[in-house]
Amino acid sequence: MQRVVCPGSFDPVTNGHLDIIARAAGLYDEVVVAVLINVTKHSLFTVDERVEMLREVTARYGNVKIDRFHGLLVDFCANNGISAVIKGLRAVSDFEYEMQMAQMNYRMAKVETMFMTTNPLYSFLRSSLVKEIARYGGDVSGLVPDIVLARLRDRLAEELRPGPPAVKLGLPRTAGRLSARSAKLLTRVHCHAPYTHQSPARRARLRPARARPSGRLRADPAAHGAGPGRHAP
Ligand code: ADP
Repeated sequence: MQRVVCPGSFDPVTNGHLDIIARAAGLYDEVVVAVLINVTKHSLFTVDERVEMLREVTARYGNVKIDRFHGLLVDFCANNGISAVIKGLRAVSDFEYEMQMAQMNYRMAKVETMFMTTNPLYSFLRSSLVKEIARYGGDVSGLVPDIVLARLRDRLAEELRPGPPAVKLGLPRTAGRLSARSAKLLTRVHCHAPYTHQSPARRARLRPARARPSGRLRADPAAHGAGPGRHAP
């Protein structure tokens, strides 16, 4: 049986992801969609929420399974009998990074990477862009599945409602389960994030006096080493 993995953040799943997953499901016996767990990366949806949405939108494919992972993708592959990684390529700009990851994964564990060119309808599509547009009231219907569209609207409305600090700052829901020290650290990290998930007025209010506009966070390099994709949301 040939089992492959489609790794990524899926925050949230888009029609571009779904197109790759569906095409892979037509080629391989089993496709495991693996959601990267990365507490240092700001996310709009928790891992559980992302898994739940992925389950709903892939329910029609009998051979697609949703899972989660942290650490190295090659370890996840070894533990799950997976021989290849499926990656979508949107543009030449994706290629350089993806090629390095593919070569590293092969060198580490002989895990192959198969590249699929994007459906031209979705070549401009990435989760971070969808979130950015939705935050500013843009129409993202047709770019994400309908159930994701509804969840996206609810979550963004929730962010604008007054609430406890973790919700206001868009902290991962796991923050409440972390030790006091980690939660404090996370809060600090998020306070210095560029607030792209907030409205401009709210961003101005939340920005700490010391934060510099250039203080943009980069995604955790270790997580990139796991090879899900190169775009920080
Ligand atoms: P993003 O946040 O950029 O959407 P993810 O980490 O969730 O990225 O992406 C997971 C995988 O899905 C990556 O291999 C990425 O290349 C692929 N992918 C994402 N969007 C598209 C798209 N529009 N077309 C093809 N592949 C895509």
